Order: sequence, then structure tokens, then C-alpha cells
Amino acid sequence: MLTEQSQQTITTTTLPVMEAFYTLQGEGTFAGRAAYFIRLGGCDVGCHWCDVKESWDVNAHPHQTIDQIVAGALAFPGRLAVITGGEPLMHDLTALTGALQAAGFQTNIETSGVCQAVTGSWDWICFSPKKFKQPNPAIFTRADELKVIIYNASDFAFAESFVPNLRPNCRLLLQPEWGRSDEMLPRIVDYVKANPQWQISLQTHKFMAIP
Ligand code: SF4
Repeated sequence: MLTEQSQQTITTTTLPVMEAFYTLQGEGTFAGRAAYFIRLGGCDVGCHWCDVKESWDVNAHPHQTIDQIVAGALAFPGRLAVITGGEPLMHDLTALTGALQAAGFQTNIETSGVCQAVTGSWDWICFSPKKFKQPNPAIFTRADELKVIIYNASDFAFAESFVPNLRPNCRLLLQPEWGRSDEMLPRIVDYVKANPQWQISLQTHKFMAIP
């Protein structure tokens, strides 16, 4: 069941920004690319291993106007914007993505897919489902990339459960939870070798000690 909070999309011309910073995308298809990260506040998925729990409270982060957010991104030379959270689709992202694209940015999002609507204009949707809250099926045919965090062995079956519902060209990524890498990394390597439709994703920004 979706909660009342996750079913609700918050419509606003300002957004709660926990942090925004220019770095390299560390994970997934665009790993290694310079990117401006916009981390929005608010998430009720409740992953126990979440490394950004301070993002959860939607009311704990100062609001910025769309113009302020885009101006922050334009201060750097890269033109890849990654909207993350928290769960960014708690918010109506139509205005933000429109403004970013008008300013010349590629718009990528990382979402658990639990929210009712996929708002915004996206060049790339990374769908990263979590066991703690079921996604809305509306995300399945929008996803360009499925990225499943492998915390324990049962997560391989969890990852496979989504594949029949995705588009045929959706990229399939398995990523070890950072704290469980010693145990899960060898298993993912073996899994990808046996199931080559999958690919490994590593949190390379953590190896590089960058945000
Ligand atoms: S969905 Fe993301 S932000 Fe939300 S609890 Fe899980 S890992 Fe943390």
C-alpha cells in the first residue's frame, strides 16, 4: 500500500533543497560524468541502510525558487543535472525540469518510484526500487535504468521481479550496498557473469572520496 504522503505529489513553485553541489556522477550509466546534483528534501520509504536519512523530513530543508536552483547549476560548466533525494517525485518537478532543460541541461532523476505521478521532463530516469515500499507501476515503462541495491542474497530475486515489466532496452544494474560490499561484491560479480543482461554499478564517488 502506498502511504498518503507518497501518493500525494506536492505542487509548488519552490522546492525544499537539502543540498546542491557540483561533482562527478559516481553510479550507474553516467558514472564519471561531471554533474550538478540537486538533492530535494522528503522521503518516506524508510530504507534502514539509507545514507541520507537527514533528507527524510520534508520540512527540514529551506525552500528555493526554481530560478535560484537553476542559477546555482549554471555557476558550473557541466550541463548534466541529477535530481535526487530523498524521494524527489514527492514534488511536482515539471517547472524545475522545464527550466533546467531551457537552460541547456540534461535532466536525470534517481527515484524509488513509489509516488503516484512521474512529473517532469526527463532525459534519463534511474528507477531504484526498495523493498520497504512498493513502487507505482507507472514508473516501469518510464525507466531508462533499473538500479537495485544488493544488501543481501534475496535482493537478486527482488531485482529480477521487475524485469518483465520494463522496456526491453532498460539497462539493468546491480549495485552493492556500500557497507556490505565485502560480502556482496563477489556474489554480484558471479551473478553478472552468469546473467550478462545485468551490469554492475559501483559507488565510485566513495572510492574517489568526493560527494
Ligand atoms: S528511498 Fe533513498 S532517500 Fe529514501 S530512505 Fe531509501 S535510500 Fe534513503
